[in-house]
Amino acid sequence: MAMKVAIVSSEVAPFAKTGGLADVTGTLSHVLRSMGCRVMVFLPYYREVWQRGMEAEKLDVDVAVPMDRRTITVGIYRCTTPAGVPVYLLKRDEYYDRTYLYATPEGDYFDNLERFTLFSRAVVESLLALKEIPDVIHCNDWQTGLIPAYTRSIYAAHFQDTATVFTIHNIAYQGLFPATLFDITGLPHQMYNMEGIEFWGKINLLKAGIVCSDVVTTVSERYSKEIQTPEYGYGLEGVLKKRKDRLFGVLNGVDYSQWNPRTDRYIKAHYSEKDLSGKALCKEDLLREYSLDVDPSIPLIGIISRFAEQKGFDILSEAMEELVKLRLAVVVLGTGEKRYQTLFRELARRYPGKLSVKITFDEALAHKLEAGCDFLLMPSRYEPCGLNQIYSLRYGTIPIVRATGGLDDTIRDYSRKDGNGFKFSEYSPGALVEKVKEAIGLYSNKKRWQALQKRAMREDFSWHRSATKYLSIYRLAVNTKRGEISSTELHKD
Ligand code: ADP
Repeated sequence: MAMKVAIVSSEVAPFAKTGGLADVTGTLSHVLRSMGCRVMVFLPYYREVWQRGMEAEKLDVDVAVPMDRRTITVGIYRCTTPAGVPVYLLKRDEYYDRTYLYATPEGDYFDNLERFTLFSRAVVESLLALKEIPDVIHCNDWQTGLIPAYTRSIYAAHFQDTATVFTIHNIAYQGLFPATLFDITGLPHQMYNMEGIEFWGKINLLKAGIVCSDVVTTVSERYSKEIQTPEYGYGLEGVLKKRKDRLFGVLNGVDYSQWNPRTDRYIKAHYSEKDLSGKALCKEDLLREYSLDVDPSIPLIGIISRFAEQKGFDILSEAMEELVKLRLAVVVLGTGEKRYQTLFRELARRYPGKLSVKITFDEALAHKLEAGCDFLLMPSRYEPCGLNQIYSLRYGTIPIVRATGGLDDTIRDYSRKDGNGFKFSEYSPGALVEKVKEAIGLYSNKKRWQALQKRAMREDFSWHRSATKYLSIYRLAVNTKRGEISSTELHKD
């Protein structure tokens, strides 16, 4: 019988997106469906959903969610993804009808615990109200971390045969809240302890997901190892080590119907590995868009990023003084923390004609950068998977990355015969500058450069392989929950 899977996420493309999580849940849902699963998706009904023109139908069922001595009514709306997967949007305007999903540029919304407790508990209540008890609930990141805790405790009787899989997309975001707010969760007090949801005197929703789910996954093999170390584990390394026989790395795939220079609807000219001439037109178009009056033969480096500490902007800013001495130009697209907005504005002011920045979230422009740049730079301090470097390969835009997490798993340095990009190890401005020098050195050798571009464009990171792995993980989770089998098979993979 078809496996029934509920994917729960605080962002899903094309409904609401701040980063890679949305791409992953959006695509995984329809790939799993094409592989025979019965899939449904749950998402808060944010303002962004209707601003993007998504229409949804209100269902007759509302759910009454108990929260801290109140009962909050949540409306259930239904629509489908472009591929036809049902999406349930949970509506409560005072919590979700806001400009941003989680935070303003000044910081997190003050009531995020309430917002995502309500979402998590409303998902559980909705499954009951809709009489849709799935085999697996696939939860993603801290915003959904309470779901495995609920199905194990106050809702256990209804979910005896339902397994939970919890995916960590970024361990630095844990959903930490003061212990005094614990009653909001409605969970039994005995779950607030060191083996449970407590973390150094606080509530930790990511930890809830890790300790209460049947299987934990993260988005690359390398990151699954890194997060078991103090350097990358953000304090949860011990907790993860304890669960290591139920912890797997599954690399994110790419939706090549969206990210492909042969068909991309946002770019100036289409091109392929056999004929790259369109790429030059895309570059000219991009330079114009960024008002960069530079010779198109100068190597153009792109950055598409959330502005956050993890992305490596501290070493980049130190490296800039050296980088601008080189024959290159840089275009930046990003949004996020104020300090990085200021940093890039300042760099653009200081180095006109060398660096140009657009501080906005603009999907069309992200595609234009992938197509129009020669290189994509990701000097991340850590990177769970990273999607932009995988997209850029398909566009013949060569990644320059730091060897961490998914960047390390997907990019092989040019020094290797089968290299598909440039990769440096040490997290330092010096190592970054050296790698950029090496990369633009190769750019001037047209024959070798084009051979590298073509090799990159032939790489295949389509979802099928990753989704197959998720399916085996779902089976393991269900068997674990129902008291069968071990994980040895999967760890051998
Ligand atoms: P993360 O999830 O850490 O932000 P990823 O590389 O996994 O990083 O995913 C980033 C996704 O978000 C990509 O699809 C990328 O194109 C998109 N993105 C990031 N910043 C912007 C932006 N300013 N405008 C448009 N798309 C963006």
